[in-house]
Amino acid sequence: MQETQAHKHVIVTGGSRGLGEAMVRSLLEKGYRVSACSRSRSPFVEEVEKDANLRCRFFWHACSVGESEDVQQFVRASAEWAGEDGIYGLINNAGVAKAGILATFPDVESERIIQVNLIGAIQMARAVSGVMLRGGKPGRIINISSIIGSRGYNGLAAYSASKAGMDGLTRALARELGRRAITVNSIAPGYIRTEMSSTLDDQQLDQIVRRTPLGRLASAEDIVGLVNFLLSSEASMLTGQTITVDGGVSC
Ligand code: NAP
Repeated sequence: MQETQAHKHVIVTGGSRGLGEAMVRSLLEKGYRVSACSRSRSPFVEEVEKDANLRCRFFWHACSVGESEDVQQFVRASAEWAGEDGIYGLINNAGVAKAGILATFPDVESERIIQVNLIGAIQMARAVSGVMLRGGKPGRIINISSIIGSRGYNGLAAYSASKAGMDGLTRALARELGRRAITVNSIAPGYIRTEMSSTLDDQQLDQIVRRTPLGRLASAEDIVGLVNFLLSSEASMLTGQTITVDGGVSC
């Protein structure tokens, strides 16, 4: 029998463009109810809000992940919107990156990266797990990490640290929430073509492709496939893991 996703409500942070947009599209297509946040509305958010078939299952709210008040307000509003459905899933996807050699990298930029990517994910997980625990049903938390969290990368020290921290959050929270049938996993993508990776020039991208056993960059859809699996009941025994999706570049 095919699993039904109707009434399953999933929150996607940073769901306005890039990887988050691809996740929201796929989740809506599969019948989930989806709450998304970002700091600003995007053409994609407007498109879904105008779509008569989708807008009843879609909720968008401005929220600056990393700002505690904003996060609590967004999760409250999103849980209210979902009503009895509560919250089934959280995808901590919102993230920022900036490159620069650490010796000359402004502290304020490192602090911003840690605040959004790591503190923001902790704030979201805290607010959402509270709702999940009160609901008493199985749940899923998926943290979008990066291979750079375990491998490092020249010029991305703060970003690497934020993603390594996220993987630690995954392991600790998996232990904390396991008894309540809430799984927590990280997905660690290699490079994907989005606005975030647009600073890489063609030569750098060619070099990554040459070093990748599967001979191409991951697409957003490659990551979305794993998200869908982790949300499914087939993944109910899988928790505390960081799963790499990079075409083999880090093997
Ligand atoms: P992107 O295209 O830059 O999109 C980032 C999304 O996050 C946007 O929706 C953005 O909307 C939102 N966002 C940024 N800061 C936010 C904040 N403080 N509060 C709320 N929303 C915020 O990035 P992407 O490539 O899709 O990346 C998505 C995730 O995948 C990130 O966690 C990233 O680290 C990870 N990742 C990306 C790659 C890659 O190659 N692209 C590789 C590995 C991992 P607003 O700007 O309107 O807030």
